[in-house]
Amino acid sequence: MSEISFKDKVVVVTGAGGGLGKHYCLEYAKRGAKVVVNDLGGSLSGNDDGGSKAADVVVNEIKSSGGIAVADYNNVLDGDKIIETAVKNFGTVHILINNAGILRDASFKKMNERDFQLVLDVHVNGAFKATQAAWEHFRKQGYGRVINTASPAGLYGNFGQTNYSAAKSGLVGFAETLAKEGEKYNIVVNTIAPLAKSRMTESVLPPPILEQLSPAKIAPLVLYLTHDSNQTTGQIFEVAAGFYGQIRWERSGGVLFKPDESFTAESVAKKFDEILNFDDSSKPELLKNQHPFMLNFYEELTKNA
Ligand code: NAD
Repeated sequence: MSEISFKDKVVVVTGAGGGLGKHYCLEYAKRGAKVVVNDLGGSLSGNDDGGSKAADVVVNEIKSSGGIAVADYNNVLDGDKIIETAVKNFGTVHILINNAGILRDASFKKMNERDFQLVLDVHVNGAFKATQAAWEHFRKQGYGRVINTASPAGLYGNFGQTNYSAAKSGLVGFAETLAKEGEKYNIVVNTIAPLAKSRMTESVLPPPILEQLSPAKIAPLVLYLTHDSNQTTGQIFEVAAGFYGQIRWERSGGVLFKPDESFTAESVAKKFDEILNFDDSSKPELLKNQHPFMLNFYEELTKNA
């Protein structure tokens, strides 16, 4: 099998001053990429901007091993400036890893609006800003690779994380639509839901588990998915401790009610077990797979787009 090389590729990793992002940068640089290491060096809750040190440390490590990297200290909410750093230093961007993130956990009863909004802002709006700025370069050059970082909390929910779960599942939908819009420009977009040792998990998981969860075990999937050779797009992968699996949607066989006066809440109650029955399930990937009548509607819609 040929080597997975990133020679001549420009990679932007947001939130790369530590944790998962740092490992991605080191691995991309080792394989020949020109890397933009973005991080504002903030605290886990995003309360403060710690400054340039976090990104600088990673850049210095890359340079001292003979790699090519530049630091960027912008907030992801100014994602366009991060992409500007890539363009100014390396001429374009080929690969964007939306990785920056914060936590502001609280049970829903205690969740305040600021903590809810800030987490959505950094994860979702940050990914939007960086991706949209990169998108024009991707389209122009007919090449782009994006990874969005979701979380098992966004797929399954997790106590104390309504804000984080909402943001992370938001990124799943964001990526699924980007993948569809990017397909004809050779823009490949996937989502990972990782679990790894970092300052995000160090205080919640016991040491014997953390020992298994090196962030270095996440990087190989991110690199593979963003390589030229990968055309798989719009997919979600759950990844932890060397386990890699794909997640997809499954819909039960369902019930088609007659749209007449017999179609009431009582008829739903009567058939509810059937609605929940997955014996005859399917795995939809497109809006038009939702129902036969959607197929015509969807075709009209795309014809007029
Ligand atoms: P981390 O805290 O080490 O890394 C996040 C980085 O993002 C930090 O270096 C931080 O300074 C930076 N950052 C935060 N806000 C920023 C902003 N506004 N602009 C620029 N940089 C900013 O944690 P990590 O575990 O490496 O997390 C990386 C990503 O993986 C996050 O999106 C996180 O939600 C996600 N994730 C991690 C786990 C896990 O188990 N560690 C699980 C699921 C998802």
